[in-house]
Amino acid sequence: MGSVGAKEIPQLLDSNGKRIDGRGLEDLRPLKIEAGVLRRADGSALVEWGENKVMAAVYGPREVHPRHLQQTTKAVVQCRYNMASFSVDERKRPGLDRRSQEISKVISEAFESVLFVEEYPRTSIDIYIEVLQANAGTRCAGVVAASVALADAGIPMVDLIPAVAVGKVAGKIALDLKKEEDNYGEADLPMALVPRSGRLVLLQMEGHMTREELAQALDLGVRGCLQIYQVQKEALRTRYSLESVPSAGVEA
Ligand code: UDP
Repeated sequence: MGSVGAKEIPQLLDSNGKRIDGRGLEDLRPLKIEAGVLRRADGSALVEWGENKVMAAVYGPREVHPRHLQQTTKAVVQCRYNMASFSVDERKRPGLDRRSQEISKVISEAFESVLFVEEYPRTSIDIYIEVLQANAGTRCAGVVAASVALADAGIPMVDLIPAVAVGKVAGKIALDLKKEEDNYGEADLPMALVPRSGRLVLLQMEGHMTREELAQALDLGVRGCLQIYQVQKEALRTRYSLESVPSAGVEA
């Protein structure tokens, strides 16, 4: 432990280059995705990723609320990211704050670029992301969950979008930061990728990196996204494999 003023800060990398949870710099936290977990949503998914637990529910295309947001040429994509009061160590004040508004906006824009919105004029595609337990990287976990939920709802899109935060901890570029690394590291760079085209549809950055570090971080993030993409596809395969449909093949 080092210290800054009265605050103890953890040692983020040990002498063997291992991180506080024993991971190497290029390792993801354990990731589990389950599709179709909510009965009343058109599509849903639960993501358990390290100590994050994030639920996504999707509705639509459906009538637009509030009506004045309706667009005559395309569907509107409305994402609401919400962090539950009980999801973090220090109780978070319930309701929309600036942070959740910002995250909702960047996620809506990311999905608007992969959904065929022109096919559904005057409708809304609603994405609800509920963070039940948070340990850094929740906006990325939200994107990962929402992609699977959109596919579960049968809403056509170019591709699933995997997402991950890359960062700089103790001078090194690291994949998938956890809370202490996010808080005490030098930089945090959440990103979301469209694997089919290689296009990034979400990219934010907090902190500082050199140009070379940024290139290294983007490369590591893309590789991380491709691993996450496999888990997303597997979740959908599990949900829609014939064995998981009890009545499949049974005639009345
Ligand atoms: N966090 C918190 N209280 C808040 C907002 C965030 O404790 O009001 C924690 C939470 O664990 C979150 C982490 O700080 O995952 C990093 O937050 P950030 O804003 O970087 O977003 P995220 O990494 O979750 O996308």
